[in-house]
Amino acid sequence: MNPFLPVLAALVVSLACAYFRVGLRVWTIAVVVAIAAVGWLADTHWLAIAIPLVVFALIAVPLNLPDFRRSKLSAPLLKLFQQVTPKLSDTEQIALEAGTVGFEGELFSGKPKWATLLKQPKPELSVEEQAFLDGPVEELCRMVNDWEITHERADLTPEIWDFLKKRKFFGMIIPKEYGGLGFSALAHSAVLQKIAGMSTTLVSTVAVPNSLGPGELLVHYGTQEQKDHYLPRLADGREIPCFALTGPYAGSDATSIPDYGIVCKGEWNGANVVGVRLTFDKRYITLAPVATIVGLAFRMYDPDKILGDVEDLGITLALLPRETKGLEIGRRHFPLNVPFQNGPVRGKDVFVPLSQLIGGPDMAGQGWRMLVECLSVGRAISLPSNTTGGAKSAAAATGAYARIRKQFGMPIGRFEGIEEALARIGGYTYAMSALSLATAAAVDRGEKPAVPSAIAKYHATELAREVAKDAMDVHGGKGVILGPKNWIGRGWQGAPIAITVEGANIMTRSLMIFGQGAIRCHPYVLREMQAIRVPEYRERLKQFDAALFGHIGFAISNAVRSFVLGLTFARIGRVPGDAYTRRYYRKLNRYAAALALVADTSMLVLGGKLKFKEKLSARLGDVLSNLYIASAMLKRYEDQDRPVTDQPFLAWAFHDCVWRMQMALDGVLRNFPVRPVAWLLRVLVFPFGRREVPPSDRLGRRVAALLTAPNEARDRLTAGIYKTPNANNPVGRMNALLPDVIAAEPVERKFIKASKSGELKGYDWAAQLADAQAKGVLSAAECDLLKRVRDASFEFISVDDFDPSELEAGRHAKPVLRSVA
Ligand SMILES: Cc1cc2nc3c(=O)[nH]c(=O)nc-3n(C[C@H](O)[C@H](O)[C@H](O)COP(=O)(O)OP(=O)(O)OC[C@H]3O[C@@H](n4cnc5c(N)ncnc54)[C@H](O)[C@@H]3O)c2cc1C
Repeated sequence: MNPFLPVLAALVVSLACAYFRVGLRVWTIAVVVAIAAVGWLADTHWLAIAIPLVVFALIAVPLNLPDFRRSKLSAPLLKLFQQVTPKLSDTEQIALEAGTVGFEGELFSGKPKWATLLKQPKPELSVEEQAFLDGPVEELCRMVNDWEITHERADLTPEIWDFLKKRKFFGMIIPKEYGGLGFSALAHSAVLQKIAGMSTTLVSTVAVPNSLGPGELLVHYGTQEQKDHYLPRLADGREIPCFALTGPYAGSDATSIPDYGIVCKGEWNGANVVGVRLTFDKRYITLAPVATIVGLAFRMYDPDKILGDVEDLGITLALLPRETKGLEIGRRHFPLNVPFQNGPVRGKDVFVPLSQLIGGPDMAGQGWRMLVECLSVGRAISLPSNTTGGAKSAAAATGAYARIRKQFGMPIGRFEGIEEALARIGGYTYAMSALSLATAAAVDRGEKPAVPSAIAKYHATELAREVAKDAMDVHGGKGVILGPKNWIGRGWQGAPIAITVEGANIMTRSLMIFGQGAIRCHPYVLREMQAIRVPEYRERLKQFDAALFGHIGFAISNAVRSFVLGLTFARIGRVPGDAYTRRYYRKLNRYAAALALVADTSMLVLGGKLKFKEKLSARLGDVLSNLYIASAMLKRYEDQDRPVTDQPFLAWAFHDCVWRMQMALDGVLRNFPVRPVAWLLRVLVFPFGRREVPPSDRLGRRVAALLTAPNEARDRLTAGIYKTPNANNPVGRMNALLPDVIAAEPVERKFIKASKSGELKGYDWAAQLADAQAKGVLSAAECDLLKRVRDASFEFISVDDFDPSELEAGRHAKPVLRSVA
């Protein structure tokens, strides 16, 4: 018998243990049993059993003796780790500690527990929240005339401002006990989605007070007095808030704000009190021109040691009433023809008392922590919802328009080129909806989803930009000519705004998603980093040892899983789902293992330098993001009871995610600086090369077909947007016309055929139609249908023209040129 069989058995069992991720003891016992059993069954020489057992014992025994392992292996590694681990700055430390880890941690583990995802409750609105959507939100949408807002007034109408305040749209996140609506994140998101399609100006105005700013900061950190005073006033719009962090010298790098406040005594409401004298120059501040209360971030100094021994207290947040002496406010910026209120805020030596610090004097210097802790919640809702609502609306509008608009005798939606654009619109909208839903649900479960909120902000805004571009292309000239009849142009113009705000996207992708995700979501790295900060040596060593050996087992397991799942084309393993989606879960298992392997190796090989290798970090972030988006889609599919008719949307979006993951991983390996490591990783990740393909043309055709006709899958995709077919909602009216347009298509084909054959008399459409009826080519009812559809469609294909004087700006803006301070 072959004397190597016991060794082979040990290897196979070790691989199986790594694949199933069993513990050290189980592995040790399993290998011993395998060597002995295979040797005995194969009747090998006793030495063929004894030698492998001895060699294995030399490896396994030290690992199974904790004291020995710690002193001989972990202790020197701990010393090395302490030397090479880069010291985190205070701001990095705060960013890492803020927020919680949810299902993204499972994805990063390389072996996601799908049950954890699927048992999360299905997100649902309360009766009261649904009533708000069906009542005040519906009413608000009816009031919107976006041309009037964007072109004629450069502002919302006074009626809309009043309505927003009266119906507490600015108080959605303020608890009921303070007079707010106390809505769930899901309801907050649903409101933004519904109004987003009607007006980008409106949705930006509503989103800001409900996101990171005075309201949210006061709810979490305000003193009781501040809460009692401000929250009811913010809830009903007596106070309009803005929050000022960004300035000319501090944009993405917000911690470097040069704005400062000096602790001193000054006069406030006639009394001499201790406060701060503030000097600041802020820009891009949403709602500032109309704000009555300004949340201000500044660095606080106490040079005269009035408050204690510390001179540089750090970033601090204060509330400045509009009437504060010296506050310069009211001028406006003009963001890409989407004229929501936005402008600069400045002040020199502006005095406010310490009672105006958010949270009072005790919170001096805590500003950055407060902002980072709240950011994950606001960022998970505002922009993802805003852009998802916009994309849903664009999908409904473009699908309908592609059916109504005809060229070469056919609806343009039938042309393959248009189908491609429609498929992207449908697929991306499906992905965005699932992503928004997942992050809102995470907030409602009490999570502070730091990493998912960055994923949602980045990907929802990027995909929305793609959707806006495709929607514009499908609309052709109709999209380009602005005016009351254009429902798509302003959304396209405003798309880059969402990319820029709440952390500009290039930085979010390059620095934050993976940069934060790798350490936060990794099951061991944060534990290792925390372990080296434990003051007592024995405890430090114990914790480090546990994390380190867990990490080693984890890395081996990921390498094995990635390779095995690659070799088997991810066709193995028990997963949930139905016959249609089981293969999707398996694919995600494969890419989760690959991400965990490549991410770990990158951290090990590149260490602290990985932070500066932004292109690698961004691509790893893309893999994590697409894993998250794909999981969110599968959860949505399950929550909606596996609707068969949605499968083209799901399939298109899923294949797109997998394709992107593959290309991102390929990009990492192609550009990995240590080539031999990259070659090894390539074998483990892509044993048969890159086999994923983008969504097929056939699948794209099915998606396009769903978008261009009324059906339940289309209704589900565009659920929650304003579809009421009234005077100010052309998209609603186009959708209402769609059944007639489709019914008229066979009639129109008969008519065109007769016209082309020369059978019909007359030079224009009306004359030929009359002749078609006279000659019995079409019945009276058919002629009536064609006429009705043609008349109704004309409005949608026509564009505006203006008297030249109507396009002149009433007053010429005179921007102020400021000298450099
Ligand atoms: C319409 C609008 C509304 C806004 N509302 C508010 C508000 O209400 N309150 C407020 O305080 N702020 C607000 N902002 C500011 C917004 O948050 C900033 O614009 C944003 O943080 C980026 O700063 P910046 O525009 O100065 O870009 P910059 O910091 O100049 O960045 C320029 C580019 O460099 C990239 N970049 C920067 N650093 C890195 C890096 N390390 N790695 C890779 N890329 C990097 C960025 O991603 C960006 O693409 C608003 C901005 C706009 C445009």
